Amino acid sequence: MKGCQADFLSKDRDWKLVISESFCDLGELLEYCEIDPSRASFTGKHDFAFRVTRYYASLIEKRNALDPLLLQVLPDAREFQLVDGYSEDAVGDKQAMAVPGLIHKYHGRVLLTLTGACAIHCRYCFRRHFAYSESSVDYRMNGQVMTYLSENPDVSEVILSGGDPLMVSDDKLARLISSLNRIPHIRVLRFHSRLLSVLPERISVNLLEVLKQFSGQVVFVTHINHPNEISAHNQAAFRLLAQDGYQVFNQSVLLKGVNDSSQILSDLSNKLFESHVIPYYLHRLDRVQGAAHFDISKQESCRIYQQLRSSLPGYLLPTLVEEVAGQSSKTPVHCD
Ligand SMILES: *Cc1c(COP(=O)(O)O)cnc(C)c1O
Ligand code: SF4
Repeated sequence: MKGCQADFLSKDRDWKLVISESFCDLGELLEYCEIDPSRASFTGKHDFAFRVTRYYASLIEKRNALDPLLLQVLPDAREFQLVDGYSEDAVGDKQAMAVPGLIHKYHGRVLLTLTGACAIHCRYCFRRHFAYSESSVDYRMNGQVMTYLSENPDVSEVILSGGDPLMVSDDKLARLISSLNRIPHIRVLRFHSRLLSVLPERISVNLLEVLKQFSGQVVFVTHINHPNEISAHNQAAFRLLAQDGYQVFNQSVLLKGVNDSSQILSDLSNKLFESHVIPYYLHRLDRVQGAAHFDISKQESCRIYQQLRSSLPGYLLPTLVEEVAGQSSKTPVHCD
């Protein structure tokens, strides 16, 4: 695999081809990272599949079984433990689904689960148990979703989520945008996507053309947890978005062993800023079954956050939040 970074990051490569070359086998990833497979606590079959892009894998430090990027994707035997207080639908998404594929929890904005697909599978993901086959939105937006949006003039923002909405092809996104353009009160289209950072090839000239077809404003929220996830390659992708006038925000999840230190988080904020990305939310872990080994107590979260606050300018401090089912917004964590 030596030198493969230079080959696979060629700008003109088709992103679907790049995805098809991802690691789907833990053994292969460990070999690539030169890590002894006996260091992995679990290598068998999982209900939540294993998937990592080669680009993300290239950022993992060789021979480091505790690498913070590796830990985010490494299946762990502890995922099988049932822990009190952890459930399959930790954030009440099922209850808030107004029509299949459309979650309406907060005032003025709805979230569409466009697809269940992702380019990398994060072990702590709160949607790991989500029944996507029953709740993916038809990209033509015929039927219930379209009717719901038309009949709810209070909704001015549509958030495309998933899975990862940028796993959907440009053609399908173009059709969706043309449907949304017919509803004048939808003024903002927001993408919640990790592809922006784990598959920089996705920000292609063609995608940028498709985005321009939306009649309102387009905004992005990406998902980066650790400064090592940022390299010249995804910085180039963020620069393309910035050049076209798009604002990109970042949300992170506070994860044990990955980013549970104010120094790491402060480096992350500074590196995001250099990349034209503004820190937005720092989430406490959603209490989803199989993710308890990533959790950090509230007291410890607050200790880290207070230190972070004292080391950053206000505009680089993400808001520490948690999601409480039934609340009208993400809930700020009160640390004082
Ligand atoms: C998080 C979330 C949003 C977005 O909340 P913001 O505070 O606007 O970022 C919208 N809808 C749902 C269902 C969400 O989970
Ligand atoms: S939805 Fe986001 S957090 Fe979950 S696996 Fe996909 S990329 Fe990771």
